[in-house]
This record gives sequence, C-alpha cells and structure tokens, in this order.
Amino acid sequence: MEKIRLSPSRVGDFTNCPALYKYRAIDQLPEAISLDAERGTLVHTILHDIFESSPENRNLATAQSLIPSRWKAQIVSKPELVDLVSNEKEWSDRVASLLSTYFTLEKPATFEPTHRELHVEMDLSDELYLHGYVDRLDIAPTGEVRIVDYKSGKSPKPGWEKKALFQLRIYALIYWRNAGVIPKMLQLIYLGNAQVIRSVPSSQDLIATEKKLVQIGNEISQSMATNIWPTKPSKLCDWCSFKPICPAHNP
Ligand code: SF4
Repeated sequence: MEKIRLSPSRVGDFTNCPALYKYRAIDQLPEAISLDAERGTLVHTILHDIFESSPENRNLATAQSLIPSRWKAQIVSKPELVDLVSNEKEWSDRVASLLSTYFTLEKPATFEPTHRELHVEMDLSDELYLHGYVDRLDIAPTGEVRIVDYKSGKSPKPGWEKKALFQLRIYALIYWRNAGVIPKMLQLIYLGNAQVIRSVPSSQDLIATEKKLVQIGNEISQSMATNIWPTKPSKLCDWCSFKPICPAHNP
C-alpha cells in the first residue's frame, strides 16, 4: 500500500471530519476559493519577504509597500481572484491592518530568522510520512530553537489552545527527530486579534504527539481499507466546499 502522506493541515482535516479528509486528500476534489485563505497567503508572503530588507527597514511602511506587488503576483498565479475581490481598496486595507497588528507583536528589526518557509519531513513509520512548511524557525546564537507560525485569523477560545498548538508540536517532533534538538519555544501569532500563544514543549509532549499521529495514521489506513469515512458535522460545515455533496447535509 502507498505510504500515507500527512501534513498538519491534513491531520486537522481528518480529526475534524474523516469525510472532509477523503474529499480533499484522497479524491482531490476541486474547492471554492476562500478569500480568507487568500488574504492569509498574501500576509504570509509579505511577512516572509520583509526579512529580505535590512533590519532598519523591516517596518510597517516597508511591509505595506509590498502589498501591491505581492498582490499582483498572487493574481497572476490565480486570475479568478480578480473577480472575487470586488473592492480592492477594502482588501488592501484589511491586509495593511493585519500587517500593522504584526508590528505590535514582534519587532523583526531586532532578530534574524534562520529559516522561512522551511520544509520539514520524516518517515514516522513504514506506512506514514509526515511533512509540512514552518513559517519561521529561529535559532538563537546560544542554540535555542523557536518555531513560529502566523495566523491571519483570531486565536482560539480559552481551552482550545492545545488543539491549535498540535500543528506546531508536529513540526517540533519532526525537528527533534531530524536534528536531535527539542525546540525551546512554539509560538502562534494571531493577527486577527493581536494574540500570541506560546508553549514550551517537553519530550513527553512530543512523544504524546507522535503516538497520536500513529493513531490517526492507523485510523486513516482503516478508513482506506474499508472505504468508510464518517461525516462529523460541526460549525466548520458552513465553510466546507463539500457541503453540497456531503451525506450529512443531503440525506
Ligand atoms: S460538510 Fe461538514 S460533515 Fe460534510 S464533509 Fe464538510 S465538514 Fe464534513
């Protein structure tokens, strides 16, 4: 059997709703463009590219000056966006506002990122391949590693932080297994409401993450073998492209 390829996003899909995972990862059905996701992509691109500037120029003015060119490049790669974004000024203003929030949370002039958009990967077992892209990974001169992920939405409600951090724990696990170093800090930066969630992972946390991933891999294998992909209706259904064909909504 072909190895299962899992990224944190696909792990999230399966745990949120196995049927969603099947439509997206197995059937690879086309999906409607999400403007929230596209806005997030634009913000991520600019937060990536801001580090091309010298430290003294890593400021809000520089970040905002990048909006037109990066947006143009995004439209070139996805021309459908032109019709979907009816008010370009409103769109740019929202991106500028998210960038403005970023500069209240971090001072990129004061540090050098070691990696941006770092691809990390590992074989968790003979059946399971794990991979993903880390937004930013900083290694301090003293060797401590910080994994950073930007979110253009709002932080989770109290009590849901652990679920949000699971993605970064997967990256931390892969980094640990490959480099032999447990990252000192995991950091989720929420630009939607100017919040930062931090976590110091322990080896026990990462071993628990590994066990959970093995369990998810086994559940996916079982679903593949039986072709049973349960639906799991939730408020996420309102954003799910597959609602029109989903049995949970089309009895
Ligand atoms: S509409 Fe809801 S239940 Fe159906 S596939 Fe999407 S997330 Fe799952």
